[in-house]
Amino acid sequence: MRDVPPPPTAAAHHHDHPLDRRFVVRQGAIGLGALLLAACTPDAAPTSSAPATTTAATSSGATPTALPAGFAEFASTVKVLADGDYWLVESSGMPAHGMMVGITSWQQQVPVPQPYTAANAWRIPRTPRPAATPVSARGQLYRGAIAVAVNGIPIFNALNNRGDDAFLAGELDTWGGHCGRADDYHYHVAPLHLQAVVGTSKPIAYALDGYPIYGTAEPDGAPATGLDTFNGHDSAAGYHYHGTLTYPYINGGLHGVVEVREDQIDPQPVTRAFRPAGTPLRGATITAFETTGAASYRLDYRLDQGTGRVEYAVAADNVTFRFTDPTGAVRSETYARRS
Ligand SMILES: [Zn+2]
Ligand SMILES: [Zn+2]
Repeated sequence: MRDVPPPPTAAAHHHDHPLDRRFVVRQGAIGLGALLLAACTPDAAPTSSAPATTTAATSSGATPTALPAGFAEFASTVKVLADGDYWLVESSGMPAHGMMVGITSWQQQVPVPQPYTAANAWRIPRTPRPAATPVSARGQLYRGAIAVAVNGIPIFNALNNRGDDAFLAGELDTWGGHCGRADDYHYHVAPLHLQAVVGTSKPIAYALDGYPIYGTAEPDGAPATGLDTFNGHDSAAGYHYHGTLTYPYINGGLHGVVEVREDQIDPQPVTRAFRPAGTPLRGATITAFETTGAASYRLDYRLDQGTGRVEYAVAADNVTFRFTDPTGAVRSETYARRS
């Protein structure tokens, strides 16, 4: 039923998702999908690995259920709802922390809010189940996310589409993230900095198979030991992953049942590019990023002893850019954007 995207070109970054048509298909199928989900799958209880912290009404109006641990700390910007077998995680994809600073291998993409809501929300299985044949993220799953952090930011494979370690390649900022072709901010390593917000007792993220991802320590504060090749292990509370400072950094695969389509886990939100893909700006280092207004931003970079600047404002249906290159030349661009 789903459109098959064209094969990626050699120049394509791993966030080149030709998903416009697919987005339309999915949007049109919201009601049907929800019906099928409701009809085919019984409502599940929260898992023991996702302890209760707060409650929320379900989108279907069913009995309120406990939310997975960790999200409550970000309740002002991340909304979590129960929907059949899934938790729906809604966010703008813009974290509260800084972004972009420290990147030395930059594709000239910048962070723009994303519509991760309703049918385009993140989906985490409420009852993770071990897979008979776990899917490794080494050599595949180079498209899309493999996990979502409790601050609503997606986490992609630690390897980019060339199979290179994105962190070692200088592609990531101080917080472990950068932006894709849709100017969508995401991490490629575990956001261990979130541990300071949620504490060691709670997960910093959930893999898209539903299993929680803790920081480097166990929930009781002891060091995590005996991790498998996916950075996970069993415990009395159930299977879970840990973030690490070296590869695989995040879950190195999916211990639990997931569906993989077109080299990415399905379902997950789609991101849509609204401007031509950026090219690598060799030699540039991003030095500053500021939020200058309700939806306006400024990014500075150093290149050849000069400073370049990207200023941009995000409106309901367009994004306006003002680029100042290190020689002082200025150009402006405006792109329409469908919400
Ligand atoms: Zn990326
Ligand atoms: Zn553990």
